[in-house]
Amino acid sequence: MPRPQPRFPEPDTQPFWEATKNHELKYQVCTACSKVVFFPRRHCNHCGSVETEWRTSKGEGTVYTYSVVRLNRHPAFRDLGAYAVAYIDLDEGFRILSNVIGVADPLMDVKIGMRVRVKWEDQESSISLPLFEPA
Ligand SMILES: [Zn+2]
Repeated sequence: MPRPQPRFPEPDTQPFWEATKNHELKYQVCTACSKVVFFPRRHCNHCGSVETEWRTSKGEGTVYTYSVVRLNRHPAFRDLGAYAVAYIDLDEGFRILSNVIGVADPLMDVKIGMRVRVKWEDQESSISLPLFEPA
């Protein structure tokens, strides 16, 4: 069973998900106040302007905080064993909720402040999920 997927049409986040098909992590910057806007939306959450532009992140950042899920009964997750759910601070100035993968033991190997980079997980639905691994 696949992970839960976004449902389309989804006007605010569709450009973000379309870009994931090319393994591009997109975010918005407000052209009125120059602040980063994330998660994707129609207006700037700082000043209310609807003038935003899309940029592509390098996909590198640090773990802001995390938790380890030891048991998830959802069919998409139940065979994973323990896994890390983390807020990642991207170097461009936005925070995303994701997973830290590629560690032997998420209870021991994930640390606040550790450097991570995006690792794409392609989905059958053709979108890709931005997960993160140690850099
Ligand atoms: Zn703004």
